[in-house]
Amino acid sequence: MSTSEFSLIDRYFAAQKLHRSDVALGIGDDCALLLPPAGQHLVVTLDTLVADVHFFAAADPEGIGHKALAVNLSDLASMGAIPAWATLALTLPKADEDWLERFCGGLFALADRYNVQLVGGDTTHGPTTVITLQAHGFVPPGLALRRDGARPGDGIYVTGTPGDAGLALAAAFGGATIIAEFQAYVRARLERPEPRIAEGVALRGLASAAIDVSDGLAQDLGHILERSAVGARLEIDRLPLSPALTASLDWDSALRTALAGGDDYELCFTAPLERSAQLEAAATSWDCRCTRIGAITAEPGLRLVRADGSAFHLERLGYDHFSGSG
Ligand code: ADP
Ligand code: MG
Repeated sequence: MSTSEFSLIDRYFAAQKLHRSDVALGIGDDCALLLPPAGQHLVVTLDTLVADVHFFAAADPEGIGHKALAVNLSDLASMGAIPAWATLALTLPKADEDWLERFCGGLFALADRYNVQLVGGDTTHGPTTVITLQAHGFVPPGLALRRDGARPGDGIYVTGTPGDAGLALAAAFGGATIIAEFQAYVRARLERPEPRIAEGVALRGLASAAIDVSDGLAQDLGHILERSAVGARLEIDRLPLSPALTASLDWDSALRTALAGGDDYELCFTAPLERSAQLEAAATSWDCRCTRIGAITAEPGLRLVRADGSAFHLERLGYDHFSGSG
């Protein structure tokens, strides 16, 4: 790009205060030079956010910067990894310095909290804002939380209160009204998801499978079921619904939003029964709640049941970019 590309890089991207000792060379050369810890798996993930697909172009840039990193840290959390580095590819329609400053403010505030250093990237001009962030972390071999380890009899758990971000989206599209008391909370749940890093690390050796919930709890649990070749019985009356969700929607819609709303960035995981006491003890020190919502079955498929044993029918499991059933 033009010379201003380089001043933008210096002024904004190279301005992070945090410097990790495992970064031998960060932003400014053709490549970064990094020192991964010996004997650990390097865990790598990447997510793209497209303006007006994944975020409102006019949204608070700090929130966008936060979320671009948070969704990637959430992927690392779902694997039980500890985050370390990030790279950022940014396509912008114009060099809006106020936007960039606030975007980096949100990005670095979260990065600093999780000891993540931005070590490189690319900055280009294009017709719409596209943010691609790659995050890197570490996990000891054999301890990563994968999707393929769920076994019949395992309990199914979810962190936090799924459905809040889905409620925020429903409200943005005129499909729900949130009372004043809950508006800031619900907005933060959509715009500032908190990656469950400590929880993911605590689940090493405890969880048999894990995924982070980005496209809807039912759909993302479905990925665990498929990869593990098992089924599940979800007791939907056990779903942890936030007061904001139950105050804003009728019970049935609240359940559907918790199951299929998407954008939660909570962890859904499974754990063998014999580890449930240890798991529940560990979860008492977490920043979020942890709720058992069902069990893995040998019979394939996802069954949703009410407390009285009757079936609950869900038309739409979650968000799919290509089916249009979002
Ligand atoms: P090259 O043309 O050799 O790929 P660039 O001019 O694109 O290098 O980038 C110069 C330096 O700035 C590199 O170290 C690159 O990693 C970094 N950089 C560029 N854009 C970003 C960005 N959006 N975020 C972080 N680092 C960036
Ligand atoms: Mg370049």
